Amino acid sequence: MELDSLYQEVILDHYKHPQHKGLSPTFDAQVHHVNTSCGDEITLNIDLEGNRINTLTWDGQGCSISQASVSMMSDLLTGKTLEEAAVVVNSFSELMASKGTAAGEPEILEDAVAFAGVSKFPGRIKCALLGWMAFKDVAIQAQAK
Ligand code: ZN
Repeated sequence: MELDSLYQEVILDHYKHPQHKGLSPTFDAQVHHVNTSCGDEITLNIDLEGNRINTLTWDGQGCSISQASVSMMSDLLTGKTLEEAAVVVNSFSELMASKGTAAGEPEILEDAVAFAGVSKFPGRIKCALLGWMAFKDVAIQAQAK
């Protein structure tokens, strides 16, 4: 297994230039999730406008996989409805469960298909999924309000 497939350029780019980082002052719900196996943590704020994601902002620290993944996720999901976002989240979860056998659906995941290689590394899957699990949680909490 080559590390190339783990650290694709687009992943490193999001790690170096994180998108939507910096928590919004107002939000409908906020969650804090930790990946104890690696020490990654993120706080995620969601602000809804009706059923649409107005802003999805975060702050966090940890490995490049976890931080790049949440950056790419917030970029992908901002502006989508919660139903559209659920399709993207499910597609990413399936990709992470594929053990390296799936290439990902670029029409749904766009740049996030770069994480396909991560699914070959069981120890890093939790890193890649951290932000996405936090999103599932924060979306439920925002809707329950
Ligand atoms: Zn990590």
